[in-house]
Amino acid sequence: MNEYPQTTAAVRAVPATTPFVAPEELARRTGRATLVRLGANESAFGPSPLAIAAMQAAVPQTSIYGDPESYELRTALAARHGCAVENIVVGSGIDDLLGLIVRTYCAPGDAIVASRGTYPTLNYHAIGYSATVVPSDPTADGGVEPGALAQCARTVRPKIVYVANPDNPSGTFLDRATIAQLRSALPPDALFVLDEAYADFLTPAELPPDEIDPRWIRLRTFSKGHGMAGARIGYALAIPEAIAAFQKIRLHFGVNRTAQAGALASLDDRAFLRGVVDEVARGRAEYHELGRRLGVRTLPSFTNFVCFEVGTKAQAVAMVAALLERGVFVRKPGEPPIDGFIRVTVGTPAERALFAAAFAGALDDVRERANA
Ligand SMILES: *Cc1c(COP(=O)(O)O)cnc(C)c1O
Repeated sequence: MNEYPQTTAAVRAVPATTPFVAPEELARRTGRATLVRLGANESAFGPSPLAIAAMQAAVPQTSIYGDPESYELRTALAARHGCAVENIVVGSGIDDLLGLIVRTYCAPGDAIVASRGTYPTLNYHAIGYSATVVPSDPTADGGVEPGALAQCARTVRPKIVYVANPDNPSGTFLDRATIAQLRSALPPDALFVLDEAYADFLTPAELPPDEIDPRWIRLRTFSKGHGMAGARIGYALAIPEAIAAFQKIRLHFGVNRTAQAGALASLDDRAFLRGVVDEVARGRAEYHELGRRLGVRTLPSFTNFVCFEVGTKAQAVAMVAALLERGVFVRKPGEPPIDGFIRVTVGTPAERALFAAAFAGALDDVRERANA
């Protein structure tokens, strides 16, 4: 027995399909070349033309490693956020940075508190590093309930408290006053990790002020508003000691040169980002209107996606499958109270029309089956 090298118990504890099954794999399984891709909250509006040009110009330099310090990009980001270069680390997206944070702050057995059903990547890293996630109760909309979260943190005394704001998959948002209150209600030795992947869809006045504080880390990405999910690039804002710790252990050349060039150019293209934000707002309004027309409740959203209430959890699972049969890829929240919803990314106007037609048809199927 076991006469060959064995993996660790921590790694064996990670489920095989984490975080989730990719749309490419779903397309292969359904025998389709492509799907209408509305399940991963990618931008339907592409990267900025300036970012594309900068990335194309960087491609011939692929034979050399990227700047491991991402210095130019960090300098531009520091100017944007009114902080020092030493307050910023660049990683391969927020998902990468979440792993670094767990590895840096949690020993095996340490606790992390997060709202039940929120964005799952932290949970996934926690399993891999043998930390424990303790869920707090969400609001009726599946959003973060700050009182319950703070209460849970005071009881559990975790190393990390994680909040995605705006939240995914609910799409809900806690305003800056609520975040300030929550921050002061947390135990002083808990690191407040604020995942602001959708920050670009809000104004700076709506977000908590740019402020470096030893008790929190803010996370941003070029994956959503900037439309660069495939380039894998994001950053964290924190005190220099935390950044220095991440710099020691992160994958040295994990962020490639092309991504750095694209992010730097995208940062300058404010007009492009404004256009994306406006089009996403139009798309959200269209989705809410579609819900009204079909008698399907939608959740208010501050992101590039909207949740539609289908019915029971089983019906929502059936809806995801029924849409996939029609060539449309969406996902659904996994936990109550919104596990009877599907989550749909705002697509281009053409994709929105395809979704509307597929959803109307699939809704009849799913409802008929429920009544059969
Ligand atoms: C999409 C998303 C991420 C992933 O960001 P990357 O920078 O692409 O890794 C992280 N957090 C939330 C809440 C998200 O919705």
